[in-house]
Formats: sequence, structure tokens, C-alpha cells
Amino acid sequence: VCRLHSDDGAHVLGRSPVVTVMGHVDHGKTSLLDALRQTSLAAKEAGGITQHLGAFVVGMQSGASITFLDTPGHAAFSAMRARGAAVTDIVVLVVAADDGVMPQTLEAMSHAKAANVPIVVAVNKCDKPDANPERVRVQLATEGLSLEEMGGDVQVVEVSAVNKVGLDKLEDALLLQAELMDLKARIDGPAQAYVVEARLDKGRGPLATAIVKAGTLVCGQHVVVGAEWGRIRSIRDMARKVIAQARPAMPVEIEGLKGLPMAGDDIVVVESEERARMLSEGRKKKFEKDRLTKLEE
Ligand code: GDP
Repeated sequence: VCRLHSDDGAHVLGRSPVVTVMGHVDHGKTSLLDALRQTSLAAKEAGGITQHLGAFVVGMQSGASITFLDTPGHAAFSAMRARGAAVTDIVVLVVAADDGVMPQTLEAMSHAKAANVPIVVAVNKCDKPDANPERVRVQLATEGLSLEEMGGDVQVVEVSAVNKVGLDKLEDALLLQAELMDLKARIDGPAQAYVVEARLDKGRGPLATAIVKAGTLVCGQHVVVGAEWGRIRSIRDMARKVIAQARPAMPVEIEGLKGLPMAGDDIVVVESEERARMLSEGRKKKFEKDRLTKLEE
């Protein structure tokens, strides 16, 4: 499946933001992701049909794009962070306009703060008769968020995930936030990447959705992924099109691993199969030792 492709002269280039959606249970994280996913490039190409692959890309008319991690909630964010995977650039904090700020809203705020990741607030369910976005603003400000309309830098966008209202405004706000952050990545050289989701396919074996942080991941390369290893047999974009290589912030599905990695696992490119096996064995031993130490504690 590998298509050879050489690409020279690559340096440091701007890249798309990678966004995670967080917020209190039932405030509409899943609904918002569903609505955004329907505007994704893959959905457009597939006539609205999309699969859950752990990430999707929304493209703008301007040519800019946003990568969304398709796993809502704090557990995923924390698990990734615990494994050292700082993939998220921006957190969308979903707050229901009727419910207002709740315990997990505050938890999400502290997660984002600890990870030094800026927040864009999506006040959701604005279609509801008892929606009160103003109250949400006051609550957030009271909790220490420095809102834009009060001279701060946190943008607040009113949306309705169910009625698909305000999604374009939210996307614009994310792009503006990304612009302020001046996100860049080295694109030449070996890739440094992370797994955001992994699953076992009956025919194709272990499949991992990965996001490159820096460098370029190329089909045919030997890799160590967490404690697993393999050789990349194919790279596909989120529309399932086979591509030769993956660049920073672009989610891709990789095939060719010998075992199933976990979300948050890092992907390291090595020069040979022998080296991949060796590193994988070493890591398996270390992970097992860490597990036993943890059990003893
Ligand atoms: P999550 O737990 O944060 O992922 O929340 P869900 O996306 O599962 O939504 C919880 C409930 O709120 C569901 O019944 C949704 O249909 C409803 N909901 C989500 N977004 C909206 C919205 O914009 N307007 C209204 N009226 N209901 C919504």
C-alpha cells in the first residue's frame, strides 16, 4: 500500500490546532462533537457518514483546519497527560446555558490550567427557554476565568449543539485562539507522534489513530508505539484515503503494529526491525515492573 514520496526543503511551519472538548456530564459534549463531526472533511467526502476514529478534521473555506479529539471528557484528557501526551492545544469548555457552572466544569477548568492549555467556552443549549448565558458568564468570571468581554482573553461563544447553531462562530473562535498561539511544528525529520485511539480490526489487525506532534511519519518506517512495535504498512487520513506520510496535527490511521497500543502512547521512529523489537521488549519489562511497584504501594 506504501507509496513512495520524497519531500525536501521542509522546515518549521504553522500547523492546525488540536482541540479537546470538556465539561460537566450532560452539558452536551457528545452532541457538540457529533454536530462538529458532521461538518468534518471526512463527512463531506462520505456524504455525511462518519465513523468514530478518535479524531476528525474540520476544514474552513480559508483553507485553515481544526483537529478535534473525538473522545469527550476528562478521563481521556488526564490519561493522555499522565502518559506524557500533550496533544491538546485548546480546550472547549462546554457549559449548559440552563444548568450553569457545575462541579465538572470547575474540574475541567483546573485540568486545562494545570496543562497550561487555553480555554474557549461554548455555552451550549442556548435554544432552551430557561437558557441564561449571562448567568454562565458571571459564574465563569467568578471562578477566575478572564473573559474577553471583561478585558481578558477567554472567548465565549453561544451555541446549540442540537440545533447546530453557533458552530461556525465556535470554529472561528478556535482559529482565532490558535492564531494568537502561533502554533508551529518542525515538519522535516523523524516523527514524534501520539496515539489517540487504538482498535483491533479483524482483517487488518491493530489500527491506531495517531497525531503527529513534529516531523513526518512515513509509510514503511519501523516504529515503537508505547510497548508495542511494528512497521507502518499503510497510513490513511480520516476519510480513509491512503496517503504516503503524515504531517503535524493531522490525524491518521496507521496499520502494521504487532500489538494493540493505548491512547496516549508515544510513537517513536527507529531505523530497523531489530531496534524496534529491542526497544519494545525493554519497554514491556519496564511497564511490567512499574505495574508491580504500583500494586505493592
Ligand atoms: P455529554 O454528557 O456532555 O456528552 O452530553 P450529551 O451530548 O450526551 O447531551 C446530554 C443531553 O443534552 C442529551 O439529551 C442531548 O440531547 C441534550 N443536549 C445536548 N446539546 C443540546 C442543545 O444544544 N440543546 C438542547 N435543548 N439539548 C441539548
